[in-house]
Amino acid sequence: MNSKKNLDLKIIIIGAAGVGKTSLLHRYVHKQFYEDYRTTLGASVLTKMVVVDNTPLKLQIWDTGGQERFRSVVSTFYKGSDGCVLAFDVTDMDSFESLDDWREDFLQRVIPVEQDFPMVVLGNKIDLRNRQVSKEAASSWCKAKDITYFEVSAKNDINVVHAFETLAKQALSRSKGIYENYLTDSIKLTPEDQPSTKCC
Ligand code: GDP
Ligand code: MG
Repeated sequence: MNSKKNLDLKIIIIGAAGVGKTSLLHRYVHKQFYEDYRTTLGASVLTKMVVVDNTPLKLQIWDTGGQERFRSVVSTFYKGSDGCVLAFDVTDMDSFESLDDWREDFLQRVIPVEQDFPMVVLGNKIDLRNRQVSKEAASSWCKAKDITYFEVSAKNDINVVHAFETLAKQALSRSKGIYENYLTDSIKLTPEDQPSTKCC
């Protein structure tokens, strides 16, 4: 959470090229789906105001802009993230198998120690018939890593809002925790509150 503007949260969406990341963001932020969406290079950031747990939030959602093949380029956008959407395409097994690498890469760069970072997995394109990744396989991968899994479709508007808002909730609660710890630590450091070191 940005300390100056407490209620800004940075969310990043990552995953293999073509899984529907840009489409999911447009569905969530603009409530639209473009069949022939063309990727533009460079990161793009979409903003959405939401209310989560009675708290108004400004979500800044970062899209990786078609550079997924160059993971080192994408990873420069990870810094300062409050939450991460890992996306794959249920009709593309390779995109599911690459989730491990995307996740590890992200965690390594963002939080070397803490492992329970706000993260959700989205299995996109469930409107299509030619599935290669079963719901069970995806759920069990997520369960093993304690990540919430959503089956979604950017095209047919299935579960997209629910998925993003679940992540926003997790990110908000983590950010509040960090802020409260920071306040507690500051109070502990106030000289009046220091225990006396005198010995009787
Ligand atoms: P990105 O590379 O991960 O950003 O993927 P895009 O959002 O550019 O989408 C890649 C292709 O998948 C485009 O042709 C989209 O129209 C299509 N697509 C995205 N989401 C869905 C979906 O939910 N269902 C279907 N059928 N196609 C989708
Ligand atoms: Mg894209």
